[in-house]
Amino acid sequence: MILLFSVSDQMTAAKFLENKTAVITGSSSGIGLGMAKCLAEAGANIVLNGIEPAEQIESIRAEICKEYGVKAIYSNANMMKPDEIKGLIEMSEAEFGGVDILVNNAGIQFVSPVDEFPIDKWDAIIAIKLSSAFHTIRAALPGMKTRGSGRIINLASAHALVASPYKSAYVAAKHGIAGLTKTIALEVAEMNITVNAICPGYVLTPLVAQQIPDTAKARGITEDEVKRDVLLAAQPTKKFVTVEQVGAFARFLCSDDAASITGAILPIEGGWTAK
Ligand code: NAD
Repeated sequence: MILLFSVSDQMTAAKFLENKTAVITGSSSGIGLGMAKCLAEAGANIVLNGIEPAEQIESIRAEICKEYGVKAIYSNANMMKPDEIKGLIEMSEAEFGGVDILVNNAGIQFVSPVDEFPIDKWDAIIAIKLSSAFHTIRAALPGMKTRGSGRIINLASAHALVASPYKSAYVAAKHGIAGLTKTIALEVAEMNITVNAICPGYVLTPLVAQQIPDTAKARGITEDEVKRDVLLAAQPTKKFVTVEQVGAFARFLCSDDAASITGAILPIEGGWTAK
């Protein structure tokens, strides 16, 4: 009897996000998908977003519903387009009655010396990684204020704290998101809404895999040398951070235990920025 009580208690604690709704931009792949699964595991209904083909995302959506017993919907809103971003939040509120957790995660990367950096790539990186967070927050915050609670998590990077050559747009956007995080956190500090930035080191997702050839070209080295001497050289642990570790970190930030953590730029980067 005692054992049954304690198991049911643990299950309630594990489902602490039941009846909450999480919108995660760029959640059809990599870190975003990992966070979506971690929040669904804790009981949250999920709004997926990404630009992959609809069939690919439908199978991800269906799997999340089946695996975690939550509701999940999908929007292909383009994070470069303010109207579509507003539509994503409106759709989420209409479907679930509100957005309790907003995770700004969508991202792309491009690597080049600054004097050769294509202007359209600069504009896209700043739009998707920085301006989209302004637009989602602007649209979702009124509902959080009305309900008197909310969690906003911005996916920054170790590159919000330190720089690397050839990543001018990425590093500028990530430093920008750190500033945005601190500013909004101060604006809503007394409203039971927290705003934080998670700063991963290298996680072996499609985004990182795709930049390896460009980095090799820019530095004149092989792709294996990029992994060993460029990517993991920065991380004292010599291990890639995992998607699951970032997901668990995000889930903790959504808990009541994390209510006093706000305006924080939080590294999860194997000691990279300790150097
Ligand atoms: P990924 O390439 O695996 O996933 C990127 C996601 O963004 C996909 O779901 C994609 O559909 C979506 N996306 C891209 N352009 C979009 C657009 N215009 N509109 C809507 N969605 C769009 O990348 P990832 O490695 O999982 O990166 C996710 C976030 O984590 C990014 O913000 C990235 O900067 C950050 N990050 C990644 C690492 C890493 O090592 N992978 C490290 C630090 C920070």
